[in-house]
Amino acid sequence: MSDHRPSPFPVLLNNDVCSLIQAATDVYQIRFKNRAANAYLVRGSKRTIMIDVGLSSNYPYLVECLAHLGVSPADIDMVVLSHEHLDHIGAAYHFNGRTIIAAHRLAANKIMLRDDFSMLRKMFNEPDVPIDIDLWLEEGNLIDLGNFRLSVMYTPGHTSACISLFDQDKGLLFAADTLMPGGVMGGVFGSGSISDYIQSLERLRGLDSKILLSGHGRLSDTPHDDVRIALQRSHALLSDTAQLFDALDARSNFEPIMQSVRDLNKLDDS
Ligand SMILES: [Zn+2]
Ligand SMILES: [Zn+2]
Repeated sequence: MSDHRPSPFPVLLNNDVCSLIQAATDVYQIRFKNRAANAYLVRGSKRTIMIDVGLSSNYPYLVECLAHLGVSPADIDMVVLSHEHLDHIGAAYHFNGRTIIAAHRLAANKIMLRDDFSMLRKMFNEPDVPIDIDLWLEEGNLIDLGNFRLSVMYTPGHTSACISLFDQDKGLLFAADTLMPGGVMGGVFGSGSISDYIQSLERLRGLDSKILLSGHGRLSDTPHDDVRIALQRSHALLSDTAQLFDALDARSNFEPIMQSVRDLNKLDDS
């Protein structure tokens, strides 16, 4: 979707590595120019949180952006991780023991077990250091920052462990890799599934959202258009994968597995 309107979101800082953009009052996007995902700061009247923090190598620039807003890492009450991919969470270990780090139960488990394959460690070339998850989140949890109330929505599909955060009163939707501007799809990784993805998008479509704050790309003030396009694309992906599955002659691949299950049953009978 090409869109030549001027962005309604003011850029507060811009250097070679990142830019700091205001999304709403007391809500900021830190957008990195390398492969790191966007990080967000929400400065509530009672609590200040970050949602995702990007790659570990970007941490000095993250700190610089926070300093521009008069915030130090010690002021962050909680870091919420959207899912287990290291482009979103690599820098989280810098917060170990200094603040509460929270993630969905399934992401927490992968991060705790240092499941490098699921976290895409090789892809992002991140150091092998533990990230401590202090709080396991579930659908229906609510993070109350005073003037912001963020509902935790379990939105699997991109992986099994994705969450989105939604502020109903302000219409702010933090959707990480589940919904991106222009309806760009986040892809379906090992633990995810396209049908879960579609169900999650359907749930996001039902929200009265005004601003979409995604894991990658710009801020969007057209979340309803974005989710409509993403749903079209995800249904197309579902039918493409069905054709691919047919083309793979899946039956011959599954036959040895089915045979070994049948053998197991025989042994149990004897
Ligand atoms: Zn991801
Ligand atoms: Zn991502």
